[in-house]
Amino acid sequence: MAHLDIQQLTKRYGSFVALDKIDLAIQEGEFVVLLGPSGCGKTTLLRAVAGLELQDSGQVFHAGRDISKLSPARRDYGIVFQSYALFPNLTVGDNVAYGLNSKKGDRKVACQGVNHRVAEMLDLVGLPGTESKFPAQLSGGQQQRIALARALATSPDLLLLDEPLSALDAIERVRLRSEIRSLQTRLGVTTIMVTHDQEEALAMADRIVVMKSGKIQQIGKPQDVYRSPENDFVADFIGRGNLIEACPVGAQHVRAGDLTLRCGVDIDQTRNQRFYVRPEDICLHNILDDCENSFNAQVLKYEFLGPYSLVTLDAKFGQSRPLVAQFSSNYLQGRPIQAGSILRVGIPAEHLHPMPMAA
Ligand code: ATP
Repeated sequence: MAHLDIQQLTKRYGSFVALDKIDLAIQEGEFVVLLGPSGCGKTTLLRAVAGLELQDSGQVFHAGRDISKLSPARRDYGIVFQSYALFPNLTVGDNVAYGLNSKKGDRKVACQGVNHRVAEMLDLVGLPGTESKFPAQLSGGQQQRIALARALATSPDLLLLDEPLSALDAIERVRLRSEIRSLQTRLGVTTIMVTHDQEEALAMADRIVVMKSGKIQQIGKPQDVYRSPENDFVADFIGRGNLIEACPVGAQHVRAGDLTLRCGVDIDQTRNQRFYVRPEDICLHNILDDCENSFNAQVLKYEFLGPYSLVTLDAKFGQSRPLVAQFSSNYLQGRPIQAGSILRVGIPAEHLHPMPMAA
């Protein structure tokens, strides 16, 4: 059995199904990110693991123990919320000590060790010596570090993070996400984090669980979820993409509009095929190049986005949506690209990812 084993977990609010028979097995020490759009049920799932929501059916096993019906206090986790949830009238030291004090007499922390443990935790999150400050005297990022110190102070076996970075500004978010990840790796604490931010999930997770409408759509390593989305929702939700519909014209060749493309795999020649292409996998060639799967396309739109540029192309694919390509802005320097320009672009066969036909 996995370290945390969620089996057939279902949660309803009236007739609305917020979680629909969720199965999820998490290994010890793993950092798992629940990712999905607003309302997909990721916070409900995290809160069910914490015992803050009671499921209608299904079970949660933690380290082999059925915790499905235990109160939050009898489960072994630390939790960090989006809104920090620090006590404003308590000092930083008292905030961090809160969980420890409520466990006085517990096997974990003897009373006299509290001050030492608080200092140790503040060191761990990079805020040593802040015991006597109040939360209002700290920045958002610092408050969230204190919340993390509080969550970790009792050495919980499980760390639950509910959108811990979304109230922070962009720079602080990136800084804290790498701090959280390296801290988690160092401590080896099994962690579940909720986010709706794709980049955050890709950067932090060992495995991503993509959710929609109370159901899991795909579970996988960041590279696998990004490179091989299993359905249209995952493909669209994680990163930008192009969907190309084509009819087979050979064992490994398809025709899309005016173009014949070789794909890297044998295809079912009895029916139309769909392929998914990431914008960054489209190559820019010299206009006279004639390599495999290359073609001319007219620029419909050019957007400079700093390190890279997005180019929207009419590729004569006969598709309803134009093709979107992403090129390094450095690479484009000296190439005047504007609406109406003709570019020679190509899709390497290995970057045509087969997708199931939409249901
Ligand atoms: P967000 O990122 O917006 O927090 P989420 O994926 O975490 O979204 P949940 O908070 O898990 O979504 O909510 C899932 C669904 O359940 C939503 O449609 C929400 O409106 C509904 N829901 C959550 N809590 C309750 C409640 N107490 N009563 C009724 N409906 C609820």
